[in-house]
Amino acid sequence: MKTKDFHIISAFPNILDSYFSDSILKRAQKSKLIKIINHDIRKFTKDRHRNIDDTPYGGGVGMVMMVEPIYLTWKSIRKKKKSLTILLTPTGKVFNQPQAKELTNYDQIIFICGRYEGIDARVEKFVDLKLSIGDYVLTGGELGAAIVVDAVSRLIPGVLGKFESTEDESHSKKGVLEYPHYTRPEIYKIGKDKLSVPPVLLSGNHAKIKEWRENNR
Ligand code: SAH
Repeated sequence: MKTKDFHIISAFPNILDSYFSDSILKRAQKSKLIKIINHDIRKFTKDRHRNIDDTPYGGGVGMVMMVEPIYLTWKSIRKKKKSLTILLTPTGKVFNQPQAKELTNYDQIIFICGRYEGIDARVEKFVDLKLSIGDYVLTGGELGAAIVVDAVSRLIPGVLGKFESTEDESHSKKGVLEYPHYTRPEIYKIGKDKLSVPPVLLSGNHAKIKEWRENNR
């Protein structure tokens, strides 16, 4: 089994550390199913001040990230044969579950995260895919990269334990959402209300349980 490498190119390379160093993604990295590597674009600046942005040509507010530090970072990373470079941008195609599945086919995925007003458009010369994580605007692309890394990783065989399945869950088939789950206790009181578990789930009748779940998606 090949390790899948995720590379995140960012001006704030430590920003996602805590998310990736816990739970399932931590375990997946430990067992070498995935690698997540953060890259600091400031390492590839050439001026004394390590500038990564400048004012926009044509005027207007805000700062634009320069293409060179990003290009040089990207060039230092791109190695594996089946490699894909993704630019996170609100103008991209909206990320979804079929796209996550498709991305499991690559050995190396490189994410380019913008900040400020975005990145010099010439970045598109070495970008294969532009992805948005929804129709709203964030302060940076890093959370978007984390979302894609997370959604793709859990589809890689071995990343989820045998008790966590991707087969029957929401969006695994078009338009299909998962049924509701319950666990102990059987009755839980909130204020005056006694909230009980649907009796069929306690019945032990697997055919009936399956039917209930199908009807309650
Ligand atoms: N001026 C830009 C927004 C810049 S937001 C515009 O109007 O389109 C700064 C950075 O955050 C972007 O370069 C991008 O990398 C990231 N970003 C913001 N919203 C995003 C979204 N919905 N999906 C993916 N990346 C996003």
